[in-house]
Amino acid sequence: MNKKLMPFDKSKLDSIIKKYPTPFYIYDEKGIEENAYEFIKAFSWSKGFRQYFAVKALPNPSILKLLAEFGFGADCSSLAELMLAKKAGIKDDMIMFTSNNTPKDEFQYADKLNAIINLDDITHIDYLDKSISKFPKTISFRYNPGSLKKGNSIIGKPEEAKYGLTREQLKEAYVLAKKKGARKFGLHTMVASNELNVDYFVETARILFELVHEIKDELGIQIEFVNLGGGVGIPYKPEDKKIEWSDLGSKIEACYNSFFANEKKKPKLCFELGRAITGPYGYLVSTVIHKKDIYKKYVGLDSCMANLMRPALYGAYHYISVLADTDVDSRERLTYDVVGSLCENNDKFAIDRELPRVDIGDVVVIHDAGAHGSAMGFNYNGKLRSAELLLKKTGKVKKIRRAETVEDYFATLKF
Ligand SMILES: *Cc1c(COP(=O)(O)O)cnc(C)c1O
Repeated sequence: MNKKLMPFDKSKLDSIIKKYPTPFYIYDEKGIEENAYEFIKAFSWSKGFRQYFAVKALPNPSILKLLAEFGFGADCSSLAELMLAKKAGIKDDMIMFTSNNTPKDEFQYADKLNAIINLDDITHIDYLDKSISKFPKTISFRYNPGSLKKGNSIIGKPEEAKYGLTREQLKEAYVLAKKKGARKFGLHTMVASNELNVDYFVETARILFELVHEIKDELGIQIEFVNLGGGVGIPYKPEDKKIEWSDLGSKIEACYNSFFANEKKKPKLCFELGRAITGPYGYLVSTVIHKKDIYKKYVGLDSCMANLMRPALYGAYHYISVLADTDVDSRERLTYDVVGSLCENNDKFAIDRELPRVDIGDVVVIHDAGAHGSAMGFNYNGKLRSAELLLKKTGKVKKIRRAETVEDYFATLKF
């Protein structure tokens, strides 16, 4: 089986663990930067191209700042995410506010920051108008293509998804927003999550580009930007194939040109990717604290589903490496469930996973945890969220979030 690589070895990890006890998340600055660079390069043909990093994937200002150096903006969907973007120095139309079932105060704050507001429903036009003093000049709508588009495993079938407007509502919405004073219009959709088929995105682009023409022809409204959303997947399994940015870029370029090559006013293109930007460059590092041999063999880590809930939530696969001071590759191979300590039987990072024999004290690295990992952490069973570290290009390690303490847990309680 293919092995997944890591940007550190056991002795480097040991030196980090001495200072920062496990469990912790560690992100690889070099990997993230190289990936961001390659992504932007793949869309250099596209004038005014923008990528708004989906803050929910890795909501840490150090990461947002790092990405902002590559021209990335922020895609936010809550008050706290908007505040994080602001703290990272991201401003105005470099913030996209793509939210759903949105509370009033969040619209107000997005408006105050001058963010681009991307509405999820036709009724939100009035709701937004009543929430703020002046309807924004720029407005975008999220389109739900319904049965035009086949579903994908995490997000499900578009016609069963809660997001976006129908095609009919969408057209009505642009007219209504124009009446309210909007002058610049965006079109957005997000119909996939963790999708590894490049054609899926080209097909989505084609549906949106077609719609840009239709809106222009039927309503006389020019779409300024098309936002292809997030959802590019990453190869969680060693045998999965990643989407090459150059392939995605050139295929979308061909599709774009087939629609707009001869037009004076061309829509700008944007994405709001999260997972594919940071996912592969984050690792959850834990120590083996127990082994248990009953009807099955268990390896118990000092982290749990409260640190990384994707396996429990979606049955998601995360590759696991075992590190020890002796050569693990020469150990016999055994089949384990790798578990945390929650009183929930789905608190398992892996089920029936073949690994080299694991010993107490070994270090276990869970791969591809750089997006929707730490971010989904929670406090059930009184578990505390772990620290986040950034492995700098220089080899130095910077703490970018401290671990929670029991004081944090008790901070909201009244006695
Ligand atoms: C979650 C989300 C994203 C990012 O999704 P990834 O799968 O991480 O690329 C982008 N836009 C919206 C609206 C989202 O909800």
